[in-house]
Amino acid sequence: MVKVLSICVLVVTICLAASPDLSGSADKAPQGVLRKESLGLRKTMNTSSSLYAKLQSVDIDDVRWTKGFWAERFDLCHKVMIPNMWQLLEDPQISHAYDNFLIAAGLKKGRHRGPKWHDGDFYKWLEAAAFVYGLTKDEKLNQQMDRIIDVIGKTQRKDGYIHTPVIISQRSQTPVRRTPKGETAEFANRLDFETYNMGHLMTCACIHYRATGKTTLLNIAKKAADFLYMVYKKSPQDLANNAICPSHYMGIIEMYRTTGEPRYLELAKALIDIRDPRLRGGKLAPAKAGETGTDHNQDRIPFRKQTKAVGHAVRANYLYAGAADVYAETGDKSLLAALEAIWHDVAYRKMYVNGATGALYDGASPDGSKDHEAIQLVHQAYGREYQLPNITAHNESCATVGFALWNWRMLAITAQARFADILELTLYNGVLSAISLDGKKFFYTNPLRVVEDLPFELRWSRKREPYISCFCCPPNVVRTIAEVGSFAYNVSDEGVWVNLYGSNVLDTKFPDGSRIKLIQETGYPWDGTIRIILEDAPAREFSVFLRIPGWANGSIVKVNDKLAGDNLKTEQYFEIKRKWPTVHRTPYGGDVIKLVLPMPVQLIEANPLVEEVRNQAAIKRGPIVYCLESVDLPDGVKITDVSIPPAIKLRNHFDEELLGGVTVLQGKAHVLGGSDWGEVLYRQISHQKPKAVDIRLIPYYAWGNRGKSEMTVWIPLR
Ligand SMILES: [Zn+2]
Repeated sequence: MVKVLSICVLVVTICLAASPDLSGSADKAPQGVLRKESLGLRKTMNTSSSLYAKLQSVDIDDVRWTKGFWAERFDLCHKVMIPNMWQLLEDPQISHAYDNFLIAAGLKKGRHRGPKWHDGDFYKWLEAAAFVYGLTKDEKLNQQMDRIIDVIGKTQRKDGYIHTPVIISQRSQTPVRRTPKGETAEFANRLDFETYNMGHLMTCACIHYRATGKTTLLNIAKKAADFLYMVYKKSPQDLANNAICPSHYMGIIEMYRTTGEPRYLELAKALIDIRDPRLRGGKLAPAKAGETGTDHNQDRIPFRKQTKAVGHAVRANYLYAGAADVYAETGDKSLLAALEAIWHDVAYRKMYVNGATGALYDGASPDGSKDHEAIQLVHQAYGREYQLPNITAHNESCATVGFALWNWRMLAITAQARFADILELTLYNGVLSAISLDGKKFFYTNPLRVVEDLPFELRWSRKREPYISCFCCPPNVVRTIAEVGSFAYNVSDEGVWVNLYGSNVLDTKFPDGSRIKLIQETGYPWDGTIRIILEDAPAREFSVFLRIPGWANGSIVKVNDKLAGDNLKTEQYFEIKRKWPTVHRTPYGGDVIKLVLPMPVQLIEANPLVEEVRNQAAIKRGPIVYCLESVDLPDGVKITDVSIPPAIKLRNHFDEELLGGVTVLQGKAHVLGGSDWGEVLYRQISHQKPKAVDIRLIPYYAWGNRGKSEMTVWIPLR
């Protein structure tokens, strides 16, 4: 075994030496240098020492939602989502996630049950709990986390390896994964998701440490990170082959930012390099089916040569987010070039109107290759350009979360509003749609149209479920909802960046240590008027950067009632640079910025190459994507019967009784009978006059909360 490992290392060393462009260090980017003082910071993502990040995030407890949309969701996250999910995770009759830790720790007898990535699901829930504790100081949560972390610690092997399926089989001496010699072994099966689980442990541990100041979980994560570093040194290909859903790229970088351990940065850089198929003795020619490098896992060609989003969408988005993290530390331009090209491919060709990604349940890649032998199977995957079906859209909730995390990192790197625009789009219309309004039911996939009469079964339920056998999405969604406040702002030497709107208080520090406190008051996302009051600010010139979303035409901004700009450029940050005297000059006690983002109802059409929505419109108002649900239609009218005139007038109206309080859109649509097609595939168009029908559109995120129902985002124009 040792001999084999040595040969592997030798092969890698030779390959690296012979292939000058394998490593992005060719552009002589300086190494990341961590300032000591940044280590103790409680940022959600600590880019405060990242030389190639333009923006820094704020501390975990720096943003508090005060009322309205996100305050309600954070409160539900604290009081319902987290306790409800704990009950699911600790009940062995339902999920077995916590029982796996108890058994691996030797505290209970039994075998591993549930998916191999269940540890990762559990860490995501723990991350949500830690983040919520950081803001609420809920002592019950604190004690609960202590008890759980104690158990997690007992599962870990002395060498740092931690992954309950393998540890349980080793402990019980009933090996389920064997080496050729018959031993139970780590990394014996790439679909064991070991690095995925350890990656989520690392991210969770950084948040727990920053929220509580305790190093209990961080020490466990350090040992796990050291273990991965050891594997990298001994057998890098083991690590490359096991990079499935690589959450450990983000995890190991955050560990570096938390501990300052330079080996973690070395490992993070290497994790990208070792994906190169040439290091496995492969060629850049397309791999044949069954070979290690696949488009499905985004490792058929070296990452730096990739220009398109391919394969499993969660794996892809996690990889892209991790690569963005490595860029933030290293400034490796070849990484950024690949990320920009892939982002362009997604944002302009492969993203749904609601920010969801990963169109295909199943497919082939490279689809349409001239070399049919190069075609490989993919699932839960990005499709071809403009291939965006609605009824069969896969759109895994985790892919949306991964896409949000990637865009958040691109925003930190570039300070460009286009990334914040998509971050917002995904949060309102992709992340929230995956959880029910009561916080207790979940979607794994997120179609944009649901019809009753589908002559085939889809693999995943089209109604919200209290538990999903593949439980990766629900805790991913819950931790994201807990952390939305930290996406709302960034700081930099130039000033404060307002990324998201919602009623909250920001109380944070600029990089020079000076305090900035502001209050945001708004009815967003239902109302586009935002008031920002600067309560405390340094006595020097600095900028407030306001994101003007791509949809917000004709926006105006005033400072202390004086116009500061109108018809503001969209998809940009509007900069207000001045001295901000915070003495009590206004009735509010500080300078007041008033931003008005007009929110007319907008009918959206897609590029004509999106065949699935030709001559159809999606409806948006502000950041919210709307849908039509059959429970809002007269009896007997099917979703597929309804069309709307292109000049439809849709009135917006806030209905506080409906769906927890939503702005609905109401107007007159057309209904054409004859939806009973029977066995007919094609027929002559009827010239029957359509009937007018009143329709009510609701936000897409709120669909599926009123029992069984048909639903569509795209509606035919007629
Ligand atoms: Zn998932």
